[in-house]
Amino acid sequence: MTYRGRFAPSPTGPLHAGSLVSALASFLDARAHRGGWIVRIEDVDTPRTVAGAADEILATLAHFGMHSDEPPVWQSERGDAYQAAFERLQATGLIYPCGCTRREIADSLVHAHARHATLAYPGTCRNGLNGKPARAWRLRVPEGDAARITFVDRWQGTQTQDLATEVGDFALKRADGLWAYQLAVVVDDADAGITHVVRGADLLDSTARQVYLQQCLGAPTPAYLHVPVVNSEAGEKLSKQTGAAPLDRHAPLDALAQAARHLGIDVPADSLDTFYSAATAEWAKRFGR
Ligand code: GLU
Repeated sequence: MTYRGRFAPSPTGPLHAGSLVSALASFLDARAHRGGWIVRIEDVDTPRTVAGAADEILATLAHFGMHSDEPPVWQSERGDAYQAAFERLQATGLIYPCGCTRREIADSLVHAHARHATLAYPGTCRNGLNGKPARAWRLRVPEGDAARITFVDRWQGTQTQDLATEVGDFALKRADGLWAYQLAVVVDDADAGITHVVRGADLLDSTARQVYLQQCLGAPTPAYLHVPVVNSEAGEKLSKQTGAAPLDRHAPLDALAQAARHLGIDVPADSLDTFYSAATAEWAKRFGR
């Protein structure tokens, strides 16, 4: 097996202490396996993309000593690959157009909730649009036992999600015409030959969907490792949306040592070289080969 890992930031703002943890964990895992590490700019969600943020993220990573082994992949340039995957799914009847507005879905969920049912998309348009115009395109999830997706996470342990009751048929193409993150990430990981996905635990909840979509597309399922998210002092997940402070590009060692401690790794950080060799050795003890 040739290890190929990746770090896939969304360019919605500069890197912060939380995204640095994901970058560092994926980088250390690749180094511990003597594998490749690729950066992918997830700019498929154009309304959330901030001009200049991708270049700033790449420059910060470089200052922190993390260099993509191949030219970064940009999701905004991969529309043809997403379209091809979409057409393959369409040919097998696995996807269908959905005419529900957000409002209609929210209303039906309120009713479902009131009946102690689930918060999954209720499948309103599964058997036709009932005269409504098509908005999004959804992937049918299986029913019964087949809906239970189980995977072993290298940090979090065995995870199971019932796609039918916990998620429902999910969107691959959004009502605004943009490709959904779930489709883009699965097609990108498959095309790049990614063998190991290391990222924040906020994405644990998306993983069963991605595993199922891999199965629908005949793509291999990579190994997964989800690192604990970094919370703000108020206890919220640190994110660009909650105004996390950008990293100081000129003081990489302090930020790296802090990110490593979040991962349970406490090593001297006198220089980037000594930091990365010590941190890689520690990571390898826990998660290597
Ligand atoms: N672009 C996603 C984010 O920044 C990460 C996606 C992934 O690693 O699969 O949260």
